[in-house]
Amino acid sequence: MKKLCFATNNAHKLKEIQAMLGDQFELISLEQTGCKEELPETGDTLEANSDEKASYLYDHYGVDCFADDTGLEVEALNGEPGVYSARYAGEHRNSADNMQLLLTKLKNQENRSAQFRTVITLILGAEKYQFEGIVKGTIIDDQRGGEGFGYDPIFVPEGHNRTFAEMSLAEKGEMSHRARAFKKLIDFLQTIR
Ligand code: IMP
Repeated sequence: MKKLCFATNNAHKLKEIQAMLGDQFELISLEQTGCKEELPETGDTLEANSDEKASYLYDHYGVDCFADDTGLEVEALNGEPGVYSARYAGEHRNSADNMQLLLTKLKNQENRSAQFRTVITLILGAEKYQFEGIVKGTIIDDQRGGEGFGYDPIFVPEGHNRTFAEMSLAEKGEMSHRARAFKKLIDFLQTIR
């Protein structure tokens, strides 16, 4: 089986993607690759950041690999917080503070359109590929629901009236930005012989 590094140490994520991939590739974590340091994320777009992480791994450890990066893009804020979603309210990376800041910036704003976007960069045999997954929706004024993480309590996906935080993991997983991007990656990997 060909080894492929997924730029994560989250065992749950690794298992989930491995199950979708079948036995053509053996997914390995950052640690299993020997990488113990934090991957650089200095880009100002999701494309640049996921590319930077995958390229760092390929250049330093010589492994085929992929890395993902996700952000919430709010139309009325010209795509903010985007690549800065995790640290919007500061380097302490606190979801409650991030949501509060976003809601403050959107006060009295009628345009509530937003989207979550995930970009995955795959490096395979020195070739580079990118895959994108998007879910469109709106930002509501209050916070609803206790599931999920990040901005889930204020994001209502298009065609629904509950927030991501009011949905089960499985329901969110059927439509999420991340699921859509990973589906494209997996479909692509399954065409590789
Ligand atoms: P990452 O690139 O997956 O680490 O995501 C960066 C940041 O975007 C996270 O820290 C969250 O603030 C936000 N985010 C990513 N995915 C989601 C999601 O599915 N729901 C809510 N927030 C998310």
